[in-house]
Amino acid sequence: MKAFETTAHYFHRAADQIELSDNIRRLLLTPKREVQVQVAIERDNGEIATYIGYRVQHDDSRGPMKGGLRYHPDVDIDEVRSLAALMTWKTAVVDLPYGGAKGGVNVDPRSLSAREMEMVTRKFIDGIHDLIGPDIDIPAPDMGTNDKVMAWVMNQYNKYHGFSPAVVTGKPVEMHGLPGREEATGRGVGIMAYKLLGRLHRKPQQTRVALQGFGNVGSHAAKILHEMECKVVAVSDLSGGYYCAEGLNIPHVLRYALEHRGQLAGYREAEHISNEELLALDVDLLIPAALGGVITAANAEKVRAPVIIEAANAPIDHEADDMLHHAGVVVLPDILANAGGVTASYFEWVQNRQHYRWSLDRVRQELEHVLTAAFEKVWELAAQRKVSLRMAAYMLGIGRVGRATVLGGII
Ligand code: NAD
Repeated sequence: MKAFETTAHYFHRAADQIELSDNIRRLLLTPKREVQVQVAIERDNGEIATYIGYRVQHDDSRGPMKGGLRYHPDVDIDEVRSLAALMTWKTAVVDLPYGGAKGGVNVDPRSLSAREMEMVTRKFIDGIHDLIGPDIDIPAPDMGTNDKVMAWVMNQYNKYHGFSPAVVTGKPVEMHGLPGREEATGRGVGIMAYKLLGRLHRKPQQTRVALQGFGNVGSHAAKILHEMECKVVAVSDLSGGYYCAEGLNIPHVLRYALEHRGQLAGYREAEHISNEELLALDVDLLIPAALGGVITAANAEKVRAPVIIEAANAPIDHEADDMLHHAGVVVLPDILANAGGVTASYFEWVQNRQHYRWSLDRVRQELEHVLTAAFEKVWELAAQRKVSLRMAAYMLGIGRVGRATVLGGII
């Protein structure tokens, strides 16, 4: 199923609930701008490699557009378009003064040397530098990119436009980045898990968690869940899953990943299972934190967890979502669950514009404050309107974007 179909499906369901007219639906669903640029580099072996870079700017009615840059071989216009729309609803759900955008390059970052990665980034920014900016569209990290990539984005943009640290977030702390930005999405997932488990009258100590994906989001989520005393029984990455019924030694797994360039391959202190098996484990909480579309109609029935937190973007397609809903599974949707990243990005942007450095304590405190307020609002709306948490989050986000669009004037 096309990624855009899934987000559009949720959009229409929520739009029905808030009785949005067809004309406003069409307006809100249509991206403001989509660009595709050539990203050609000379590889270390002298060969020319050509990739395609995308940037979709979905909506700016609530502020400058905001969204990550993904480097992955599956990146295409459909995926980027869908993720850009998700960003619009996400920034609105947490009430940040932003719109939504997304970008990416269809390249496998693992196939690139550091120099090649830098070239891909600089060439991509050459192609889109006129379309982004601190008051227009502010990229950030996503799958396959990191703080180093963001430093190159800033540096390349500055060559054209002068010193502008606020053009991109997720930068290294030494390069105008924010203390705590890197951990923020995973920490946000932890904050959400804590709130949700509380509302469901579940104790963290009695919660067995399976986590798919051990990159930026998955590893930080594992750390904070472990600190909350949840029992993380399985984690995974591209190399497969690692399972221990008594709970993994998460500090040990984290150290192992750190010593092996972020990879879990070869970890021997746990049973090796497949990613598919991980999704079907008998656990209390399942957290997909890798790719989109991993739970579909084909495997939804195998999911045994009664609660799912979508740390990844769009990990459940809409048919699977219906099946899970009917089976009574509580799903905390991506646009709320992983909003910690964009919230900390907002703090970084504010810090850059203030030219005043925030402390880690302040970042963590304000992150908790913003995310808690958004969680409570969505929870209340879901209870009031008797809809799922996903529907409530979409209704809240779309309603805010719709109101801003109408207030700003359409013609
Ligand atoms: P990352 O590149 O740091 O890590 C991705 C992880 O997923 C790695 O462990 C990788 O091995 C694993 N993975 C890749 N393909 C897999 C597969 N087929 N099966 C199992 N595991 C696989 O990416 P990230 O930044 O942690 O992002 C993960 C998800 O969270 C993405 O969906 C992203 O859009 C979303 N997200 C990230 C942020 C952020 O701040 N980084 C913010 C919001 C949402």
